[in-house]
Amino acid sequence: MWLPRHDPIKNVLYIDLTLKKFWVEDRSDLFEEYMGGTGVAIKLLEEEIPRNADPLGPDNVIVFAIGPFNGVYPAASKTVAMFKSPHTGNLGESHAGGRSSIAIRLAGYGAIVIKGTSSLPIWVSIRGKNVVFNDARALWGMRSSYTVGRIIRENEPNPGFRTIMRIGRAGEKLITYAGVITETYRHFGRLGLGAVFGSKKLKALVVSGRGSIPISNKREYRKIYKELYDTMVKSPVMKKYHDIGTPVNVLRLNEIGALPTKNLKATKFENADILSGENLAKGYLARRMACSHCPVACIHLAALREPYVDEPFFYKTTFVSYDYEPIFALGSMLGAKSVDGFLKLLDMIETYGLDAMSSGVVLAWITEAFERGLIGEKELLGEKPKWGDHETYMRIIDKLVEQPNDFYKAIGKGCAYASRIYGGEDFALTFGGNEMPGYHTGPAAPYSFMVGARHSHLDSAGYSLDEKTIGKELTEEEIVDKLLEEERWRQVLTSLVVCLFARGVYKPEIIVDAFKAFGLTVKVDDLYELGKKIHMEKYKFKIREGFDLDKYKFPKRIFETPTPHGYLSEEKLVKMKRIFKEKIINEIKPIS
Ligand code: SF4
Repeated sequence: MWLPRHDPIKNVLYIDLTLKKFWVEDRSDLFEEYMGGTGVAIKLLEEEIPRNADPLGPDNVIVFAIGPFNGVYPAASKTVAMFKSPHTGNLGESHAGGRSSIAIRLAGYGAIVIKGTSSLPIWVSIRGKNVVFNDARALWGMRSSYTVGRIIRENEPNPGFRTIMRIGRAGEKLITYAGVITETYRHFGRLGLGAVFGSKKLKALVVSGRGSIPISNKREYRKIYKELYDTMVKSPVMKKYHDIGTPVNVLRLNEIGALPTKNLKATKFENADILSGENLAKGYLARRMACSHCPVACIHLAALREPYVDEPFFYKTTFVSYDYEPIFALGSMLGAKSVDGFLKLLDMIETYGLDAMSSGVVLAWITEAFERGLIGEKELLGEKPKWGDHETYMRIIDKLVEQPNDFYKAIGKGCAYASRIYGGEDFALTFGGNEMPGYHTGPAAPYSFMVGARHSHLDSAGYSLDEKTIGKELTEEEIVDKLLEEERWRQVLTSLVVCLFARGVYKPEIIVDAFKAFGLTVKVDDLYELGKKIHMEKYKFKIREGFDLDKYKFPKRIFETPTPHGYLSEEKLVKMKRIFKEKIINEIKPIS
């Protein structure tokens, strides 16, 4: 139903790192039924990973999947990565832009499956139909992920259209919230894909291609393309992403009292003005960039200028890409006092290849645990964290990556794990085992982090529902239904695979029209059915791997700090969880 004729997207490339072998299979069956992206990835994951596999063992599998719109329509610029998460122990899913999706498309694949474990560090190059296994021993242990990217870039022949995905030292050290960096400024950030790369001794994956994509109805294609393009660049739908970018949220959330501050002890941040998108744009913005085939260019790079110690009039300039989420996690959550301090910390996190969101929430937990005497200088090896002290936070990050003692090993597994050992679970801000995103907007946000398949604000955007309903009270059933509908719809968008920032452009009717360019007739109802099916498949996988919603409690802190909807009611959130369980999980149980 969803597979364009003669489209090489049906080809899945399998790579076995243990045997250093690769082969291609025609998986028209999967692309016909599940479209691509998230839909195809979850089925490949289910096929390839044995039950209860160790996420950091050779049985774990990494799937990269793209969809029929990648390389064809604007802002269809994302790649879906799926794996078993070492951070939560169940479904790992992370999306990134850069050049990854177009490179995979032009290399002639719809998905790449990476199995097994290499005995020595390697980097793997997919050059169209060929796959090369390169010795990466000289790159292993290198401090900067930027340098690794540069060396690979200069040593890879025949660039074609290319992506370079790589890990930093955090991934090598199996920090469970290490990410994978692609094209320097984009990331598969959440849920520990970097640690899975590290466990497989896979330092980098390079994909380059020179292929093309068949379009059967060019007249229809030009028409739809123009409509999509014009909506993106000429209407206000995506303007905010280009102008100030997601950091536009800082002042807005602060104003309504929803910006998590100092480990969510507050939701108003005294330095919000300093770290606001507006201030960063005025004083630091060096340039904007775009993922391939996206006219929006929402990637904002700040220029961080640091004088050399011996040459005060000479500056080292580093470009640091910033978004709202790192500003929340490494800014307001840590009580940041200056833009320079925030950017230095963020740059270090990038250098090591850590997930900025989890790192910030872990540092915030450490600061409060230290204040309360649950941990001391003995555990922290002499460090005394305090709000806004980015120099100390940078030294803690250095030690986190070095893993010199049991405490640093524990925080390398996230704050849910560390708080079980050292105490402080009430203020360890995790949901389903994953550290919180930057929204304390009302009841829908924490509920969505808890039940969303990847425990992310991007699953169903509960924060957005909260913001739209300030001053009103939705019933538990209404919140559950609205967010379920949204999460199911997002499975369609992430199977195409379009950027979720373009969700206001890719409405059901235009997606139906866009399929006409491939000579395919689909109906709006088919899209909704597909979204529902993929969401169920994801939950089936989670439950197969032992996910039990009843085991996870909402951290007490979220009930102690007011939201724009007032203080949250634990009873209400628990009831919403129960309704979700009845609607989704109980339906799956007999199948699993
Ligand atoms: S809107 Fe931004 S993140 Fe999305 S595809 Fe475009 S440049 Fe990339």
